[in-house]
Amino acid sequence: MRKIVIAGNWKMFKTQAESQDFLRDFLPTLEETPSEREVLLCVPFTDLNILSKSLHGSRVQLGAQNVHWEENGAYTGEVSAPMLTEIGVRFVVIGHSERRQYFGETDETVNLRIRAAQKHGLTPILCVGETKQQRDNGETEIIIINQIKRGLVDIDQSNLIIAYEPIWAIGTGDTCETKEANRVIGLIRNQLTNPNVPIQYGGSVKPNNIDEIMAQPEIDGALVGGASLEAADFARIINYQN
Ligand code: PEP
Repeated sequence: MRKIVIAGNWKMFKTQAESQDFLRDFLPTLEETPSEREVLLCVPFTDLNILSKSLHGSRVQLGAQNVHWEENGAYTGEVSAPMLTEIGVRFVVIGHSERRQYFGETDETVNLRIRAAQKHGLTPILCVGETKQQRDNGETEIIIINQIKRGLVDIDQSNLIIAYEPIWAIGTGDTCETKEANRVIGLIRNQLTNPNVPIQYGGSVKPNNIDEIMAQPEIDGALVGGASLEAADFARIINYQN
């Protein structure tokens, strides 16, 4: 049985004070949410500690947006898995296209980060996706298959989430056709040894398209950027209609 996982990715948004304002509006909206839906917030490092306390006793789980592969060392600006687990973080986004594009993340460093996350009991959310140019060149399948194969070398697929995020759909309002997202996610599933890995769709998920997205049989949830910053929008996404 595959889990449904809906995760907010706050990127580099929200101070601690703003995170508390968000929760005041957001948490009450979860009362009617079906219990089988897992809800995560993946937030900037500086928000993790306060959110760990504020989310205690709620059904919302906490995620970071990156993790280094060493446990400690001379890696200025990085954060390790034990530093995250100590404060109650359970999930970590790895290989987001913004990290691949702006910070030189490669499939090899993505793989190292996933290994370290799993070793310390974190659940990695591996992000994969093609650029517009790669899609136009007919390279979507090969790009995705390579990202999956290289990212998952020696990875335990029983503690893993994958997010298919076509780069041209992220933050653009240009959502991937739901049937096409479903097709690519099916293709990703065919590369896996564990058919129960939850595979999310990400890329301009909004209150007005979530019902259609979640109606697709291969799609097990969503990774939500911009729309997770507004409590009402994220609440509508979590409470999608079957
Ligand atoms: C993301 O940040 O992973 C994302 C999909 O962003 P957006 O929902 O804003 O497109």
